[in-house]
Amino acid sequence: MTTHDTLARPLRDLRISVTDRCNFRCVYCMPKELFGSEHAFLPRSEILSFEEITRLARLFAAEGVRKLRITGGEPLVRHDIEQLIGMLADIPGIDDITLTTNASLLTPQRAATLRDAGLNRVTASLDAIDGGVFRRINDVDYPVARVLEGIEAAGEASLGPVKVNMVVKRGLNHDQILPMADHFRGSGHILRFIEFMDVGNSNGWRMADVVTAAEIRDTLATHWPIESLDPNYTGEVASRYRYGDGGGEVGIIPSVTEPFCGTCTRARLSAQGELFTCLFADGGYDFRHMLRQEQASDEAITRRIQALWSARADRYSELRTAETAGQRKVEMSFIGG
Ligand code: SAM
Ligand code: SF4
Ligand code: SF4
Repeated sequence: MTTHDTLARPLRDLRISVTDRCNFRCVYCMPKELFGSEHAFLPRSEILSFEEITRLARLFAAEGVRKLRITGGEPLVRHDIEQLIGMLADIPGIDDITLTTNASLLTPQRAATLRDAGLNRVTASLDAIDGGVFRRINDVDYPVARVLEGIEAAGEASLGPVKVNMVVKRGLNHDQILPMADHFRGSGHILRFIEFMDVGNSNGWRMADVVTAAEIRDTLATHWPIESLDPNYTGEVASRYRYGDGGGEVGIIPSVTEPFCGTCTRARLSAQGELFTCLFADGGYDFRHMLRQEQASDEAITRRIQALWSARADRYSELRTAETAGQRKVEMSFIGG
């Protein structure tokens, strides 16, 4: 059955964060000052087991979820994640399983195992093609070449076309728009520029730091003519374009300046089992408690999913102001974007 929220949006996508840990310290996501050696990551006992995740995913699928996205932290640092993919791939009703990763651990062998387990596609994050800029952003001295190898490995394993997401922040990497476009034009991978968002409270977001979709379009157009393409499906978050000279597809995700809450069908499950109905929520519903302490039945969990989704009124990005940006919100590394 399909439950609709108060704005008539069905529940279609579930983003599952499998860990709060990451091998990068991207300055806008897990800055070292806050996620240093003192930071207490969740102990293993507090994160959902593969069986718990699969049970919840199965009940969400019965309520209309068709697409699962595995994220984190960095999902590939979770041990045996292939096993989870295999368990999720067996759920009736799920027709797409994707993984968002920084691609650093995506060896050809890992990519093939993930595909064989049932993964359909990979989205890779890469914010710069210049090695120096990239090292400054990941803040763990990670070389860009290794990420590029990971992206190629995903492509080779038929996990493509790989969507390559680049968050653009003024003063940090806006000078990388054209070099990134140049690198990925004609590669078969689809580069997507993302407006820097005010997720969480630790990235010091200011509107002035957002390089807008309009600016990105204008920057691209100075070098290559681009033409709009129709969305692949209702609710697609990226505006799609095609290079006029046959260089392939490029996308822009205008989360801040052209919000898409009206078609947002996404729910997010944190590594410790809290459900968030919006990326900008300040709290989530504790399904782990239901699973472990309450030993809840499938029927009780289903009723809770229906109740949470049918009460959903979230449209944060449409209501965003300078004041809302300062509200308490969950961190991105906790629910995975
Ligand atoms: N570690 C994986 C990765 O980097 O792909 C998955 C988790 S990461 C939180 C998911 C995505 O969120 C990444 O593409 C990252 O660039 C993006 N992200 C993090 N903070 C962001 C922000 N403030 N605005 C826009 N995107 C952000
Ligand atoms: Fe890690 Fe991804 Fe956040 Fe970078 S964006 S710190 S890779 S979780
Ligand atoms: Fe969905 Fe919330 Fe983002 Fe709007 S702000 S698109 S409701 S996650």
